[in-house]
Amino acid sequence: MVNGLTIIYTGKGKGKTTAALGLALRASGYEEKICMIQFIKGSWHYGEMDSSKKLEPNFEMVAVGKGFVGIIDDKSPKEDHEKIAKEAIKISNEKIQSEKYDIVILDEINYAVNLGLIDVKDVINLIKNKPKFVDLVLTGNYAKEEIIEIADLVTEMKEIKHPFQKGIKAKKGIDF
Ligand code: ATP
Ligand code: MG
Repeated sequence: MVNGLTIIYTGKGKGKTTAALGLALRASGYEEKICMIQFIKGSWHYGEMDSSKKLEPNFEMVAVGKGFVGIIDDKSPKEDHEKIAKEAIKISNEKIQSEKYDIVILDEINYAVNLGLIDVKDVINLIKNKPKFVDLVLTGNYAKEEIIEIADLVTEMKEIKHPFQKGIKAKKGIDF
């Protein structure tokens, strides 16, 4: 059995979530099973929510914020965000331990830790207790040093230019 990797996509530049999705697309070509759990995605619609369905049964997407749509915006109290983040951790643990998936992607989990919604120890436990074969992907800027230390692959997206700087708004198919 090949040992799974812990992979981190962090940094300010764009491309963290899309890198994880690209990896899912590639692995699904080998009939690998992938589960992506979205932390703090909120009420936005992302194209991958629909394209993932076209990759069924290889690709499963879990938007934990769903059902909490009304309270995920910035005006809601921190306890609500914490509750959702804790729920996302619980679901992540179940998915990772289920041994049904070759790859588990925890999208935006680094932000949730950075915002103090999740304890870094919870993330370290997820990584340390994962079945050996599982590849675990963590995205989001501000990845903690403790997590970087135990990861196998860490890529920092470096922003050189972003259309946002010119006032160009988020683009369908590119940004969401
Ligand atoms: P993507 O989902 O496009 O791969 P990302 O995962 O690297 O982006 P996030 O931090 O998750 O970036 O941000 C999500 C949203 O913010 C996306 O719509 C993305 O295009 C946009 N975004 C990402 N980086 C920047 C930036 N440096 N400036 C402005 N907007 C950004
Ligand atoms: Mg992202």
